[in-house]
Amino acid sequence: MQFVSFSSGSCGNCYLLLGPHSGILIDAGVSIRRVKKELEALHLGYDRLSAILVTHDHGDHIRSLGSFCKRLTLPVWTTPTLHDALLRHPFTREWIGPCRQDLSAHVWNPVTEDFDVQYFVVPHDATQCVGYAIRCGEELFVLMTDMGHTTPEALHWASIASTVVVESNYDEDMLLGGDYPQELKNRISHGIGHLSNRACAQAIGQFLHPGLRNIFLCHLSGNNNTPELAYASARAALEEAGAAPGTIALRVLHRGVASPLLNL
Ligand SMILES: [Zn+2]
Ligand SMILES: [Zn+2]
Repeated sequence: MQFVSFSSGSCGNCYLLLGPHSGILIDAGVSIRRVKKELEALHLGYDRLSAILVTHDHGDHIRSLGSFCKRLTLPVWTTPTLHDALLRHPFTREWIGPCRQDLSAHVWNPVTEDFDVQYFVVPHDATQCVGYAIRCGEELFVLMTDMGHTTPEALHWASIASTVVVESNYDEDMLLGGDYPQELKNRISHGIGHLSNRACAQAIGQFLHPGLRNIFLCHLSGNNNTPELAYASARAALEEAGAAPGTIALRVLHRGVASPLLNL
């Protein structure tokens, strides 16, 4: 498996997971033109995209989903609840119908020839928000973002994954001491918003296991976090939990800037 983050955060979320024969785009929060450019930089074309997975119906995750449906007519997989919301959403309602593919709960859904997918619901103030466990051969990739707090199910999946992409949205001191209105501070931090660096670090301590090779920190806030703070917090959690040095690759996924193509 290979992974690339095209963009991560409120500026737009879009990730690509590549298997030997097929690829899955996770969320479509950046323009189709930008994705084309990023693919070209990797010497790849649209033909490497086989399906799209959607985590939830916030603009930073679905802003360009309508264009992807219109231009590429790829199957778009998400929960029935989210698909019903996408059929009503102004960004997607015109184009989503023919692309709709509903995921079944609590089973492996064969989404492409390389990838089987299960979803798990995470707490967030969208119609619904899901994390994904994605199986490719023997490997398990787990992505959990836009998550007010962790759940036993999310921690379970992460605790058996070889790669975990997890939100590390804000530094608590920066958020509380910053100039966001109190209502917005509450929205972010009160359990159905986003995961703080501290909560992310705590989660890492809980899901760390010997088979884990990669941790990628995603959806960093532009106003209430820095890549350095998020990295240091997660690094400290790994050290505290006794991870052997050099066994786990820890990386911050930057806002608006693509990561290299990463071998998982
Ligand atoms: Zn988001
Ligand atoms: Zn969201």
